This record gives sequence, structure tokens and C-alpha cells, in this order.
Amino acid sequence: MLREVDPEIATLIQAEERRQASKLRMIASENDVSSAVLEATGSVLTNKYSEGYPGKRYYEGQQVIDQVEQLAIDRAKALFGVDHANVQPLSGAPANLAVYLAFLQPGDTVMGMSLPMGGHLTHGWSVSATGKWFNAVQYEVRKDTGVVDMDEVRALAQAERPKVIFCGGTAIPRTIDFPAFAEIAGEVGAILVADIAHIAGLVAGGAHPSPVGHAPVITTTTHKTLRGPRGAMILCDAEHAKAIDRAVFPGLQGGPHDHTTAAIAVALHEASQPEFREYAHMIVKNAQALAEALLERGFDLVSGGTDNHLVLIDLTSKLIGGKPAARALDRAGIELNYNAVPFDTRKPFDPSGIRLGTPGVTTRGLKPEQMPLIANWMDRAIAAHDNDQALDRIAAEVQELLGTL
Ligand code: PLP
Repeated sequence: MLREVDPEIATLIQAEERRQASKLRMIASENDVSSAVLEATGSVLTNKYSEGYPGKRYYEGQQVIDQVEQLAIDRAKALFGVDHANVQPLSGAPANLAVYLAFLQPGDTVMGMSLPMGGHLTHGWSVSATGKWFNAVQYEVRKDTGVVDMDEVRALAQAERPKVIFCGGTAIPRTIDFPAFAEIAGEVGAILVADIAHIAGLVAGGAHPSPVGHAPVITTTTHKTLRGPRGAMILCDAEHAKAIDRAVFPGLQGGPHDHTTAAIAVALHEASQPEFREYAHMIVKNAQALAEALLERGFDLVSGGTDNHLVLIDLTSKLIGGKPAARALDRAGIELNYNAVPFDTRKPFDPSGIRLGTPGVTTRGLKPEQMPLIANWMDRAIAAHDNDQALDRIAAEVQELLGTL
């Protein structure tokens, strides 16, 4: 037993379990996995090496592992309706790197949304290998709407002729227009890659339009709205299957994490149940109820609201930076992250915004009726951000709500 072998780590894990249970966990990229996913993640599959793919391995003893990985692949293909699935990327960033390796040479032009506008580091941001080793051009959102302007995307694509265009990101509160991106990619002969890491669960549950049929390559993490273990997948059309598989292994990785593959298979099974559709739609209903309640309390939301699971708040009008606000909210029992907002004038380590999402609290069982409570606590906590006693009183109220679930 862990407690006997390593009481220090056992105690820390228990402390983290308590911490998670005592918070409204609203980091938009996090979730609570089921005990079935957790069990698969902690299984003996972690003992195995299985470089290669089902039926073509470099190590013996794959009788069981091949079945596990094949199940994960088949479930991913069925759930998303794609020709091919690679379930081996170790996480979202390596999955995106595999896409570069599959389709680009160093120095080639790639286009993605810039990080401070809501894109991801791996879509060509300057500090990432993708921005250093490739000629990355970046599109933004419009200043007046906070939303991507497809005419600007088209103009940039036509001027720069990228080989690959990424759509999707980490802080995009609005629906991604996959058909419009596909049209632009078609016009300039680029491969469109939809990174649906944040919204995969919404896509699977029918609460966000699917990129399938528009983007020939789709990358996703498995641990956000999809509610699986930490991992990733690349889904693609048959014509790209070989290039993607070769890029993941042997191009970029060694042995896959078979325990994670099993847990991904479990999560995909769970996501194909009717209850998951309800869950996905409830995530969006909760986010929209939260957005409405925040707007009523004078919060300034990037793009004016949300179509999905996340809300991005510009705190400039509340006269507080994102970092002190996030710290105060954490003490008040509401866990989220500070975040840059489009055209931020502050530094990345203390930007103007906070980002929060509803996947975790929806898993916990919260409903739209409870979202005004959260907005009210947020308003009070931000107003009292330097008053620990006031923040602790809010944390006690949060506890009371969590105790009723
Ligand atoms: N792509 C997007 C859109 C993301 O939001 C993230 C993570 O936040 C990633 C890729 C990278 O995933 P990971 O942190 O698992 O490497």
C-alpha cells in the first residue's frame, strides 16, 4: 500500500484530494475523471513497453495491449466519425508537434491564432519550438468584437500562403467556424488542422459543431471537456493516416503510455453514452448562465459572452489585475487562472484577465440556477481581494454549497 511504502506522498495525494473536493474547480481546461478512468490510469498497463502500433510492435507480449489500443482507436473513430485515430500522443503539445513533423519542413509557413488572442503556444507562438523553427504567421481577434474576423484570416492566408492552418485554441469563448476555415485553407492549398483540445467533449456530445468533414486533421487532448486521462489523440482522413502515425512514432515518441491508452478507451466509452450528451449541453448552459450573471454584475466579458464552456473576463474596469484577482478567488474557494485578454496592455505574468470554465463544476452536479451564486461570490471576492477574513467567509459559503451536492 502506498501509505506504508511512502507515507509522505500518500499524505500529499490525500491532501490534494481534499483540496480538490473543497473548491469550485473552474479552470476551463480541467475536469474530474470518473473512478473507472482513474482505475485504468493506475493499472498494471503502466508496466508494458509497446513501441509500434497494434499488430506491428517492436516488443513481445502485446496480446492484451494490442486489444486495448485497438479498442481505443475504434471508439475514437466511432465517437467522432473519422477514418483514422492515433491515440498515442503523450499530451496536446506533442500531438501538435507531430502534425508539424508530418506536414512541414523547418522554415515552412504555418498559420495559427496568436497566444494572447486565445490560441495555443503550439500554434506558432514565438517562445514555442513551433514559433522558433517554423515561419509562423498569426491571426488575431477584432478589437471591437473580441471575435476572429474571417476576412482578416483570409487576407493573411492569401498573403502568406501557409502550408498548415491551425484553428482552435485555449481561450476562445465563441463557436469556431470550421467551414469558413476550411474554405480559406482550400483557397490557399493549406491543410486545415482543428485543435479541439478544449471543446472535444462538447463536439462528442453535440454541443459544438464538429470539424469532421471540414478539417482533414484534428488534434485534441483527452483530459479537458472529454473528461479522460491526461493524453491526446490525432484524428484524420485516411489519406493522412500514414503520415500522422509515422510522425507520432517513430518520428517524435518512443513507447506509448498503455495505461493512459486504456483510460482514454474508458473515457471514450463514457462519452458515447446518452448521459454524456446531457453533460456536454449542461456545460454550455452553465457557462451561459454564469456569463449572464457576471454581465449583470458589471463584469466585462471578452466577446460579450460565451457559446461554449468558458468565459474570459477583462478586469480592467474592476481596477484589479488578473493575478491578484485569481489569488483572491482561490482563497474564496473558486479556482481559476489569470489570463491575457486580447490586446492586453499588462505583462503575461500579471495580465488583465481571468479565464474560467464550467466542465468541472458541471461534473460535480452544479446547474444553471447555481451560477448566479458563483457570480455573486466572484464579485464580492474581487471587491474584497485584500481582506482575508471576507475571502474566508466566502470560502465557507462555497463549502456549504459543495456540502449539499
Ligand atoms: N492545444 C490546446 C488548444 C490547448 O488548450 C492545450 C492545453 O491547454 C494544448 C494544445 C496542449 O495540451 P497539453 O498541455 O496536454 O500539452
